[in-house]
Amino acid sequence: MRAIVVGAGIGGLTAAIALRKAGVEAVVFEKAPELREIGAGISVWTNAMKALDKIGVADAVRAAGRQEIGGTVRSWSGKRIAEVPAEALEKRFGLNVVLTRPKLQETLLAALPDGAVRLDAQCVGFRQEGSGVTALFSGGHEERGDLLVGADGLHSVVRERLFGDGRPRYAGFTAWRGLADLGDGREGDGFEAWGRGNIFGLVSLGGGRFYWYATKNAPEGQRDAPEGRKAELMRRFGGWHEPIPTIIEATEEAAILRNDVYDREPLKRWGRGRVTLLGDAAHPMTPNLGQGACQAIEDAVALAEHVSGEADVAKALRRYEERRAERAASVVRRSRLLGRAAQLENPLLCALRNAVAGAMPLRLQLRQLDPVLGYEA
Ligand SMILES: Cc1cc2nc3c(=O)[nH]c(=O)nc-3n(C[C@H](O)[C@H](O)[C@H](O)COP(=O)(O)OP(=O)(O)OC[C@H]3O[C@@H](n4cnc5c(N)ncnc54)[C@H](O)[C@@H]3O)c2cc1C
Repeated sequence: MRAIVVGAGIGGLTAAIALRKAGVEAVVFEKAPELREIGAGISVWTNAMKALDKIGVADAVRAAGRQEIGGTVRSWSGKRIAEVPAEALEKRFGLNVVLTRPKLQETLLAALPDGAVRLDAQCVGFRQEGSGVTALFSGGHEERGDLLVGADGLHSVVRERLFGDGRPRYAGFTAWRGLADLGDGREGDGFEAWGRGNIFGLVSLGGGRFYWYATKNAPEGQRDAPEGRKAELMRRFGGWHEPIPTIIEATEEAAILRNDVYDREPLKRWGRGRVTLLGDAAHPMTPNLGQGACQAIEDAVALAEHVSGEADVAKALRRYEERRAERAASVVRRSRLLGRAAQLENPLLCALRNAVAGAMPLRLQLRQLDPVLGYEA
């Protein structure tokens, strides 16, 4: 059996690994001329680590990153709002892994044989026939397979051809991301600091290196401030508690990324015939739970389990979608809710939000995390 996977993001690469483990000849077609993940960090949470364990790459991901421990929510001035202690998290869920995106990509690529990823291949559509599916590429090239997986991200062409359901929904805020090396070997537990209409999150990658993210409410497509990204970040976050200003200062201007944040209303069905979707193409979500790529990983492993040993490809894909749709939709909804709370601007509502978060007993905090982090794909 041959699978055409469109898109070599975290979802597409994991799908190819999982499908190949299941005996399917999976080939990934990526539009970019070279594979270059953006230079930011990523958290691979315990639910996704369990899925990676099933396809034999979890140890390599652990070795490429840092096992994260604990985390607190603070106010902009550094006052502790809520905390889930490291021991409680580890006892309940195990440890998640944080690493840079290029490292994760490299690790996934290393689990694939040469030739499993073809670059410079932009999919423009597909044609379904009774006995197979043909992917169409710009320049007129065609590839035939038994199934086609659209892992082509937020602006998925495969999704557009399947459902034509328009643009994703702008969530009302924009996010910056960056990597900073403090050069002093400093480590520390991650935290997220909440302000009014903006947040700043910090994740230690070990050895003095940190991944950070920050948000602000803004109209869609807003241009960078004339003074540049770093200066705008310093203007907004320079008065927040340390090490936030130091981290921003230690980040190179050119390496600061900025993306508007989107999600979509969850779909009930992700495919038709021999075609299906996976990852952001199926269920883009706001980054508030750090689950976008984790859900793509869960998808990939579930997809391979359903395709393996099932002669009726369309049936296998519908079963995969049935298994995944509600799970992914619930994470999309939770992320959206958390995003709304995190981006609140009204001072009274912010005070109420902080008070509610601070008063929540540990038992309840863990119970809230359970459906997301405790899930076994
Ligand atoms: C600020 C921020 C922080 C985040 N933090 C986390 C986190 O900590 N943990 C986490 O799990 N998730 C996180 N996410 C979400 C995560 O980045 C995404 O959900 C994830 O990368 C999606 O992976 P994907 O493979 O589905 O899509 P993508 O990574 O978008 O990959 C799609 C690939 O398809 C290719 N492609 C597109 N169109 C075509 C075409 N027509 N033909 C061929 N190739 C094509 C693209 O070039 C790309 O390589 C974060 C997101 C943001 C914005």
